[in-house]
Amino acid sequence: MKLSMKIWLCSIAVMAVAFGIGGYFFVNDVFEASMERETKQAMDESSILRFAFETAALNAPSKYGILSDSAVEKIGYNLEKSGQDTLRHLRLSDEERQVLYASGDFGADGDLLLDVGEESRAYRVIALEGRYYVQTGTMVPTLDRRLYLETLRDVTEVYEERTRGFAVYRTLMLLILVISSVFLFFISSWLTRPIRFLTQAAKKMTDGDYSCRARQVSRDEMGQLTRDFNRMAGVLEETIHNLEEEVRAREDFIAAFSHELKTPLTAVIGYADLLRSRKLDEEKHFLSANYIYTEGKRLEAMSLRLLDIIVTKRYAIEPQETDVEDLFSYLRDMYGEHGENPFVFRYEPGHIRGEANLLKSVLLNLADNACKASSPGDPVEVLGECREEGYWFAVRDQGVGIAPEELKKITEAFYMVDKSRSRSRNGAGLGLALCVEVLKLHESRLEIESRPGEGSCFSFLIPFEEVKAE
Ligand code: ADP
Repeated sequence: MKLSMKIWLCSIAVMAVAFGIGGYFFVNDVFEASMERETKQAMDESSILRFAFETAALNAPSKYGILSDSAVEKIGYNLEKSGQDTLRHLRLSDEERQVLYASGDFGADGDLLLDVGEESRAYRVIALEGRYYVQTGTMVPTLDRRLYLETLRDVTEVYEERTRGFAVYRTLMLLILVISSVFLFFISSWLTRPIRFLTQAAKKMTDGDYSCRARQVSRDEMGQLTRDFNRMAGVLEETIHNLEEEVRAREDFIAAFSHELKTPLTAVIGYADLLRSRKLDEEKHFLSANYIYTEGKRLEAMSLRLLDIIVTKRYAIEPQETDVEDLFSYLRDMYGEHGENPFVFRYEPGHIRGEANLLKSVLLNLADNACKASSPGDPVEVLGECREEGYWFAVRDQGVGIAPEELKKITEAFYMVDKSRSRSRNGAGLGLALCVEVLKLHESRLEIESRPGEGSCFSFLIPFEEVKAE
């Protein structure tokens, strides 16, 4: 059953119980008040009749101050008729509670008189032939006798009023419940609106639409829940997006890796087959063997690079204080004098905290790429600057440059802008991927600025915490 239905039904049930109990007490209270009034009037009437009886008894002709039964009967008769427009219901009994006079329809038994004493009066409510009466009893000491006077007051109307009250209240309650159930239905479905929106959003997300968000329609706890749900959905979407990216990157990596393996292996197998199946002249024999050797070397270099990347990814560096001079002098030894491109080194002295061997391999890769991209004779600059946030390294060339759309991709493993050119220079598209991993370990990242035909600048900053300037 829907929550809105449950709220609706519970509200109606609570209202019905509350109205039922409230109505019962209300009608009963009115009844009790009426009964109290009627009882009081019955008792007043009893007092008046008693007084009237006493007066009449004193005025009745009596012998030696004795009140005879016939005199009592007569007084009783007179009192019964003394009511203005209705008959009075009364009964007079002697000391033995034997009836001396009774109105024609006085049907009540005389048990009430057992509770009546000289000073005390009694009353009770009785039902006689479908009608209700307040029966009162009192003692009337007159002359030499102690007589009993009983009266009956008809209160059937009060009982009928109570029955009518219950009937009216029942009808009213049903009417109110019907009208309010219509309102309650709308209120409960309005209150559960945020839950409906949340459910819809959750369903859409289950179907794969992670960008879907629940509509926030209130600022209460439900609004807070919607906000939290949307925040959670945002995190989930981002995480799933990252995971998808990672899976895609891995698939690309595997595809590129198998492709990079396949190309040289096909050539190696082809040349090896040629060597073993035919007798070649000396020059062709050398060329074939040389091809197998160079491709083999390339494969070896590639597998070593791959190994480096995998190891670096799982590596935690132990940073040591390193003099930047060591890094630059290493590069100077590698590229300074020999080589096709003149190298210019411009740097400020300083110290960094990092792993020198890894940083050397980054600089070496960048310098190597700069040479590969440049024509013989083009200068390559290696720069070092001590900045406020850290120590900044850059390798700048005036080579072929990189198109803007390629910039993002060149750091992916196996990505080469010009594949044949890179392969001919022993490249496999792994150098920059390795640089990125090493720089991540140093909490740094590779910045690339490049213009096609004008050259490129690859730079990175070993951050402040890792730096100690001289
Ligand atoms: P590779 O082993 O092919 O050099 P890298 O990951 O080092 O692999 O470089 C990826 C690609 O980025 C290279 O194939 C090259 O096309 C491009 N590239 C890298 N450095 C430069 C540069 N300085 N100038 C122009 N292109 C570059």
